[in-house]
Amino acid sequence: MKKTLYLKFVLAYLIFGIFSFMMVTVFVPNITKERLVREKAKILYSEAMMISDTYAAGLYSNETDLETVKTQLDFLSVYLDSSIRIINPSGRLVLDTNEPLNVEEVMMIENFDPTATSTSYYMINDFFGSFESEMLSVLAPITSSYMVKGYVAIHCDMNDIQASCNSMLNISYITLVILLLLSLIILIFFTEMVYIPLRKITYAAEQYAAGNMHYEFQVESDDEIGYLAACMNYMASQIAGAEDDQKKFVANVSHDFRSPLTSIRGYLEAMLDGTIPPETHEKYLNIVLNETERLTKLTNSLLTLNNLNTKGMLLERTDFNINPVIRSTAASFEGTCLKKNIAIELILTGDEMFVNADVEKIQQVLYNLIDNAIKFSHHDSVIKVETSLKKNKLFVSVRDTGIGIPKDDLKQIWDRFYKSDLSRGRDKKGTGLGLSIVKEIISCHGEHINVISTEGVGSEFIFSLQLSADSEEED
Ligand code: ADP
Repeated sequence: MKKTLYLKFVLAYLIFGIFSFMMVTVFVPNITKERLVREKAKILYSEAMMISDTYAAGLYSNETDLETVKTQLDFLSVYLDSSIRIINPSGRLVLDTNEPLNVEEVMMIENFDPTATSTSYYMINDFFGSFESEMLSVLAPITSSYMVKGYVAIHCDMNDIQASCNSMLNISYITLVILLLLSLIILIFFTEMVYIPLRKITYAAEQYAAGNMHYEFQVESDDEIGYLAACMNYMASQIAGAEDDQKKFVANVSHDFRSPLTSIRGYLEAMLDGTIPPETHEKYLNIVLNETERLTKLTNSLLTLNNLNTKGMLLERTDFNINPVIRSTAASFEGTCLKKNIAIELILTGDEMFVNADVEKIQQVLYNLIDNAIKFSHHDSVIKVETSLKKNKLFVSVRDTGIGIPKDDLKQIWDRFYKSDLSRGRDKKGTGLGLSIVKEIISCHGEHINVISTEGVGSEFIFSLQLSADSEEED
């Protein structure tokens, strides 16, 4: 695997880290500084307005003297951590909290232009060359009798603002580092909850692809990944089961074909090389014929089973009267019954009983069940075929008083090729496929078949059938 999911996730995490770092080191400082400047300017401007309305106005109306105003503004400048100036419109510095009061020396700010702030109420520069470093300056006019007498200027060193901005940014940097470290938890979660289980699933998929269907793995989680793992496990076990079944099936088919073929070959060779004298040929040819009959039966049964499997639910359902079907099927066994002196007693409900099913398939079910009943019945016995109505269903039962089925075999009789040991001696022609076919047909109809049997007493097979719509209405 060249690019693992883990690598991609770590890469995404790194990209996220780098972007967050860039955001915090590029955008955040700019935004913070801009915001701090605006806040500071706002405070300074309202202070300047307050000074122009109070102390400065008093100065120009000669209510207060310059010294008193200077003392008051000195205090204020310390409090605001900035320097305060009163400037005449001509640019003459009337008062500066940074300088001692000197009335003799005329200090001028060259190129002083009160309109320089234009649209904004603050400016960041060296204030017309009067400072060495960059200052944040606000300017408020001092008006008296609708005339601008001068200006109050407050200046704050941009280095101070930068310093407080930096201390604020330090908090952001520390928060970023903590967040990045905390987000490592996501990486740990991803590893534990997604990556490791996915690795297990991929490894299992590789094993299955290589044909190791018996490989089992465990993912302990009840989320989608856990569900996926459980589904894969189930799928593999089903495929493994199907593979085993198929192997068993092929082994059974080969075995069942091989034994009649071996005996046919044996008899024929013995006849050809004279081991079996010509006068007994007829006897052995009959045995050979029987064996070929068995092979034909086996092939037909296999074909039927295969068709049932591939066609699935494709049944040719019709409404038909089951009574004549039972009668004709039972009649087809007349010859066999005569040989063993077995009687088939029919106890049928109603003159006519319409059911909805595939008539040919149901005939096959009846045939297989009656065939078994005769095969496993003793001479001079009676087989009962009975129909009864219960809860809108017709139940058909085939009952014999034959050898019965051992309790331990009851579950397996529906399996393909299964023959109980008890029956082997009596029924050499049996294929072990008859009941599998019966079960398959009844299941295709959405109905059920059951068996009640006691060894040495007899067996009863009962299956249900759906009544035709007309018969149900009559009920
Ligand atoms: P087959 O009859 O060809 O051997 P089936 O699938 O029809 O195959 O039956 C499977 C096995 O179930 C039989 O070999 C026999 O052991 C048992 N069985 C079926 N029907 C009866 C019955 N009526 N009485 C006793 N055993 C039965």
